[in-house]
Amino acid sequence: MAAQDDVFKKLVSHCKEYGFVFPASEIYDGPGAVYDYGPYGAQLRNHIKEYWWKAMVQMHENIVGIDAAIFMHPTTWKASGHVDAFNDPLIDNKDSKKRYRADVLIEDYISKLEEKINKEAEKGRKKFGEAFDEAKFRKTHPQASKWNTEAIQVNDRLQAAMREKDMAALKQIIEDCAIADPESGSRNWTEVRQFNLMFSTQLGNIAGEEGKLYLRPETAQGIFVNFLNVQKTTRQKLPFGIAQIGKAFRNEIVARQFIFRMREFEQMEMQFFVKPGEEMKWYHYWKAMRLSWHQAIGTPAEKLRFHDHENLAHYANAAVDIQFDFPFGFKEIEGIHSRTDFDLSQHQKYSGKKMQYFDPEANESYVPYVVETSIGLDRMFLAVMSQAFQEDLVPDADGKETSRLVLRLHPALAPVKCAVLPLVKNDERLTQKAEDIFNQLKFSFNCQYDEKDAIGRRYRRQDAIGTPYCVTIDHETLENDTVTIRDRDSLKQDRVPVHEVAAIISSRIDINQVLRLLDRP
Ligand code: ATP
Repeated sequence: MAAQDDVFKKLVSHCKEYGFVFPASEIYDGPGAVYDYGPYGAQLRNHIKEYWWKAMVQMHENIVGIDAAIFMHPTTWKASGHVDAFNDPLIDNKDSKKRYRADVLIEDYISKLEEKINKEAEKGRKKFGEAFDEAKFRKTHPQASKWNTEAIQVNDRLQAAMREKDMAALKQIIEDCAIADPESGSRNWTEVRQFNLMFSTQLGNIAGEEGKLYLRPETAQGIFVNFLNVQKTTRQKLPFGIAQIGKAFRNEIVARQFIFRMREFEQMEMQFFVKPGEEMKWYHYWKAMRLSWHQAIGTPAEKLRFHDHENLAHYANAAVDIQFDFPFGFKEIEGIHSRTDFDLSQHQKYSGKKMQYFDPEANESYVPYVVETSIGLDRMFLAVMSQAFQEDLVPDADGKETSRLVLRLHPALAPVKCAVLPLVKNDERLTQKAEDIFNQLKFSFNCQYDEKDAIGRRYRRQDAIGTPYCVTIDHETLENDTVTIRDRDSLKQDRVPVHEVAAIISSRIDINQVLRLLDRP
């Protein structure tokens, strides 16, 4: 675990040092859990969005995209259930004045018990090697079996309290387990209470509750309220989907793990409207489709897994997360939910407007069912960065092995596609030629011109931001109009005619080759 923590810390500082992610308003010490994306981060985000949009909208003739407003009529959130039920259990420590999520304090307590068991198990494993039987050990080892039973019992109580929204029961668990404030060690707690995660603000022209507006906590509702507008204007027939990429806001009580849990983040969501009764077919279709989307861009299968929801929301009849193996373990990156007709029916009830679809084949009207796919752009960004970030050994100019930090980003996602480098900067013929080449290539993709420092250092700089190709202009270029293209991963340098460079690189960075992997009947 310590090694993984270390990798994660290195990744976070790499993101800052190389212009991917900065803490927001850093000079004022930031509002916390809000981040700004730097020049390379912004490019990488755009490329992830492009990949998602093309795979969902462009590749499906029955999916269309919209861009709804962040502010919605406040009744939207009453209808969707967010005003009443989008809560986390909050507890304050009276001495330290720090705020915590009661369920997270209890989860951390359970994790500590698990850690203690694992430590003991490790000793056993060392002693008995292959013959070590962990299940038996958990039952028979005097200390471990006590911790194991306690972990199971506390978890059962936690699940029940969360299911019943029983705040007093959560407080009782914290007291029974003598859980202390992780920062101050104090056990002087307030009662546990529900905390709504929506940010609210006020309309300019109406005072009081009437003018209260929320920053949307998910983009999906902008799709639901526009369901008929979109269906009618695009003449779509069921099944069809509406996709959207946009900001969402949640006033997370505990926001940790860098851009994994933020207060302002971006979602890429698609609601697929289907005939009631057909939702499970489409649920399985989208489960498979979304998993392939992750794999096609190079995420290894063993880094992804499905995790079925234990407690289904009352309106869902199936729900699964796609989890990614982040440096801090397997965690949700995307959710696929079969939401029945809950949202559209609720909007129909609260607005008094019909949210029905007329099915010309069945000659009847009904409220469609919905299967949604919802992925956090920032979590996808973190997943992409964490698997790309590597340290390896490469030969330096004298052939000696030296270590380098490299981002092995898929070329289609890399922020900069190509660096144009004159071999030396003090030969004007080389720098002039390099500038000419840069001025040609800039029409095709994002390039960078760099002449400062020795060529090896310039390669290292490009490796660190994930640039897949470096075009080097040397003396031979002046003789026969050829350059070398260096491949970031294989380090191979191929000599090619200048006039072919744009086409060669364009074909390698083309997102189409990834999309083709998804194109199956
Ligand atoms: P979690 O259980 O981790 O809080 P969630 O189940 O509440 O997530 P959903 O409401 O299903 O998340 O939102 C869909 C997606 O939006 C998630 O899979 C995740 O990628 C992203 N997401 C949700 N909350 C955040 C957040 N605070 N910061 C960044 N991304 C988020």
